Amino acid sequence: MDSFVPVTPIQLQIRKIIFENHNDVDEKFTNDEIFEKIKQNGDLDPSWIIDDIESYFMDICNSGLARNIAQNFTTIWMKLFEPMKKQHCNTCNFDVYLGMNEKPICPNPLCNSTI
Ligand SMILES: [Zn+2]
Repeated sequence: MDSFVPVTPIQLQIRKIIFENHNDVDEKFTNDEIFEKIKQNGDLDPSWIIDDIESYFMDICNSGLARNIAQNFTTIWMKLFEPMKKQHCNTCNFDVYLGMNEKPICPNPLCNSTI
């Protein structure tokens, strides 16, 4: 029974954190660093551990935003394929962050509108 619903979908939180802290194609970042920032922001189920958000990192690798360059137990190192840009989705009214060459589809899973 998992009834916690974040104000901002986790997918959008992850992308915003990468945009604000790691928007550099030469820089490596880890899922642990992103998860720490999500926890600091406090908009997540407090019972979550790093394993609970692994699938979200698979998603950003599958979408062509980032690639997995190394993994050690639960830590995943990633790099962006291309810089990210901030956009606004007029359908769900969130600011969203996409890679320059990603498809212009809102990454909010409840929205998925074309931007
Ligand atoms: Zn949207």
